[in-house]
Amino acid sequence: MVIEFISVGTEILLGNITNTNARYLAEECAVLGLTNYYQVTVGDNESRLSAAIRTALDRSDIVILSGGLGPTEDDITRETVAKVLGREMKEVPEIHQQIQDYFERMGSRQPSSNNWRQAMVIDGAQIVENHNGTAPGMIVPVDDTKHIILMPGPPEELKMMFEESIAPFLAGLNHQVICSKTVKICGMGESRVADVVSDLIAAQTNPTIATYAKGGEVHLRITASGSDAKAARKSIKPIVKELKSRFGDKVYTTRESETLEQHVVGLLKRKKMTVATAESCTGGMVASTLINVPGASDVFNEGYITYSNEAKRKILGVKKKTLKNEGAVSEACAEEMAKGAAKAADARAAISVTGIAGPDGGTEEKPVGLVYIGCCIDDKVWVESYHMNGDRQKIREISVKKALDMLRR
Ligand code: ATP
Ligand code: MG
Repeated sequence: MVIEFISVGTEILLGNITNTNARYLAEECAVLGLTNYYQVTVGDNESRLSAAIRTALDRSDIVILSGGLGPTEDDITRETVAKVLGREMKEVPEIHQQIQDYFERMGSRQPSSNNWRQAMVIDGAQIVENHNGTAPGMIVPVDDTKHIILMPGPPEELKMMFEESIAPFLAGLNHQVICSKTVKICGMGESRVADVVSDLIAAQTNPTIATYAKGGEVHLRITASGSDAKAARKSIKPIVKELKSRFGDKVYTTRESETLEQHVVGLLKRKKMTVATAESCTGGMVASTLINVPGASDVFNEGYITYSNEAKRKILGVKKKTLKNEGAVSEACAEEMAKGAAKAADARAAISVTGIAGPDGGTEEKPVGLVYIGCCIDDKVWVESYHMNGDRQKIREISVKKALDMLRR
């Protein structure tokens, strides 16, 4: 079965972004035993996109389009495919509702009229859910043998959708089964992780390894396919072993459903340890993340949100001198916060977070994104400092991951 990719986006043609989607799709489709002869890139232009779709349908069985499903004027993939196939578009109430829900979850901003275009689906298409954004994908049967598949452009949306829905669909078409396993890493950035596995990725055919950045974590997903599930699973095992040996204790789990917080709670439980939290810029997020895990009461009794200097002093016993000389965002303060929390809660472990989440409050010496995280275990305290990128929410989320990661050690 021959598959063709059409990457839609003028920014790819201009060289402004690298076409990582085509590379990802090529690797993943090779695992599925699909043959790829053509990869086309076309700008956000209706007549040229129509021509590219017609040509692809002439010479390939499956055509995957990526990009141009978003809400802006230049996102024309949906409408262009409908026109080429001579199909109507119809609004799907469930997607309309999902868009509404998505905007409510993200804050109060109202969807614009263009956002509602994403609820329009090509007649006869199967809708593919997007768990990382608002634009759903589509699988459009063209005739008895041919399909057009529409996927969103942002790589993290495309990858998740491919893995969850498109790969199983394509495997079925090609009479293959797929198996996969995830190696979850914390404490190392995506580009460093990619460096460590670059030789494996360069040499891979089946199974393949793909990297996914997940809010402060990196997941390595190994996927294999074959005509029999047992053989596919077996081929994954040596790769998992190799990854574990390369990443050592940076790997926190290979269990599909285990999160970092579940792992940490389990670990503390096994060590019969309780943990207290002392949080400034994360405002209780570390405590809340731990408490999200069922059974957290075995390891968590008390946490403190000490946002002001006064609270740090009063509740955690941070010294006046430390706050005056070093400031609240300092190694010394993080250390005293962790120690103070362990003492106040009578816990064997404590974690503290103090930083500048921005957007204001940064200085040359202490810029936005500077975060100190302290960890106290059985009276031994150590502090790590980080320079994080991103907006206020992102900085706070990554701080939570780093804090949980420190409790693993
Ligand atoms: P959005 O809802 O974000 O507009 P979309 O489906 O309309 O999504 P595009 O507008 O085409 O997708 O692209 C959105 C962003 O996704 C681009 O700015 C780029 O950062 C990334 N992107 C798109 N196509 C690719 C690609 N082929 N490879 C890597 N990144 C891509
Ligand atoms: Mg777009």
